[in-house]
Amino acid sequence: MQHRYLFQMSQTRLAPPGPCELAVIGAGPVGTSLAILAAQAGFTVTLIDGRPSTDENSTDTRTFAVVRGSWRLLMATGIGPELAGQTTPLNGLDAEDGGTHWFGAPHAAFSAEDLDRDPNGEPLGQMVPAGALQAALDRQTAEVPGLTWLRGARFSGMTTGPAGAEISLEDGRMVRAGLVAACDGIHSAVRNSLGLRTEGRSYGKSVFAADVTLSRPHHGIARQLFTPEGPFATLPLPGDRANLAWYMKAGAAETLAKLPKNQIEAELNARFADFAGEMRMDGPPLSYPLVMQIAEKMVGPRTALLGDAARRINPLAGQGLNLGFKDVGALVDVMTSARETGLDPGSDTVLAQYQDWRRFDAAATAMGMDLIDRAFSNDNGLLKGLRGLALTAANRIAPLRRALARQASADQAHLPSLMR
Ligand SMILES: Cc1cc2nc3c(=O)[nH]c(=O)nc-3n(C[C@H](O)[C@H](O)[C@H](O)COP(=O)(O)OP(=O)(O)OC[C@H]3O[C@@H](n4cnc5c(N)ncnc54)[C@H](O)[C@@H]3O)c2cc1C
Repeated sequence: MQHRYLFQMSQTRLAPPGPCELAVIGAGPVGTSLAILAAQAGFTVTLIDGRPSTDENSTDTRTFAVVRGSWRLLMATGIGPELAGQTTPLNGLDAEDGGTHWFGAPHAAFSAEDLDRDPNGEPLGQMVPAGALQAALDRQTAEVPGLTWLRGARFSGMTTGPAGAEISLEDGRMVRAGLVAACDGIHSAVRNSLGLRTEGRSYGKSVFAADVTLSRPHHGIARQLFTPEGPFATLPLPGDRANLAWYMKAGAAETLAKLPKNQIEAELNARFADFAGEMRMDGPPLSYPLVMQIAEKMVGPRTALLGDAARRINPLAGQGLNLGFKDVGALVDVMTSARETGLDPGSDTVLAQYQDWRRFDAAATAMGMDLIDRAFSNDNGLLKGLRGLALTAANRIAPLRRALARQASADQAHLPSLMR
């Protein structure tokens, strides 16, 4: 394998890599899928990540809701056979308002039939374990010609000019590239090196996450209960298992995650057994602080920002990584059409196309999640009435329900070609 050979060389003699058309900084799910798809499209790609090559990715126990459009993009990378048997089809979404209402609990339900009215068609998406996804993408990088992975190498700075970018790595090597893709996550060093500011807020909340076995079948439905303190969600996993996410005040999720298993189960069942059925934990619990952060721009000289480097949103509706996959599809599309028309894929003109395509959608989704969080996480009388009305309308008005389902599952027009 070409890239394994280069990897061995880089480990022993730290050989300077040759110039490439695209340097991808960060090999998370966004960076790795971009590197594979850009190399498959015929670009020379160097993937750079600080994580050590021994990392087997097994510590991340999250499960991502990968919606229909994103799933198509992932299948285009060729990781389908690697993931076989590890994912769960997402057949429906159910949202219920758990606040106190005199007229009962309003709810809205979405299914794959809202997208194409075909009961045997594609599901809304797939539940994909984070560790399995990363491991499959990592392995796939070895199968793609034109892709060089410099593992254990960290970005430390760069200079840009009309001919391209010169990237400095912490080990002293330099990489020259026509275009740099910043996929280095929420604390992006690439974004910071360009002096791009971010805006956002801490929610003062954290998410408690754990895998459980349910006493009731979930039928592939992701269910969310909005309580005044924050949402509680069960996301379907194989069999009767589910990945649950419980949003709480900062500190409470962390404290809960440290309790003995039997005490956590007692707490979960006392609060949510009526909604989800009895729950038995079958994995270690985790907790994550909630923040919203949006970069002021998605591009800089010779640079595009993707995934969490561009924005981190409230994971309420599981849209964060899906936005990152849309960034990937959009960047591959603008690079490919630039090449076809003789334009430089790293030029300001092409980068402006990428930003125009992605910025509004990403910012609107971040704001939308923020609004839902504010509207549902309290017991204010006026808001209770409005959100009850909104859920009932979404449930009863078929065109509205279909439009929301298309938006949530990335199955509408104007999508990158890899997602259609
Ligand atoms: C509790 C929780 C649940 C979530 N659930 C969902 C969900 O169901 N669906 C969904 O769509 N999204 C979900 N998200 C959001 C999702 O996790 C993120 O959007 C996604 O992981 C971002 O991927 P990324 O590749 O952009 O960044 P990351 O996964 O953060 O990867 C960044 C990479 O950059 C590397 N790196 C960092 N600095 C450097 C450097 N200087 N040099 C080289 N490499 C560097 C790191 O080693 C890492 O590999 C959830 C988030 C949370 C917190």
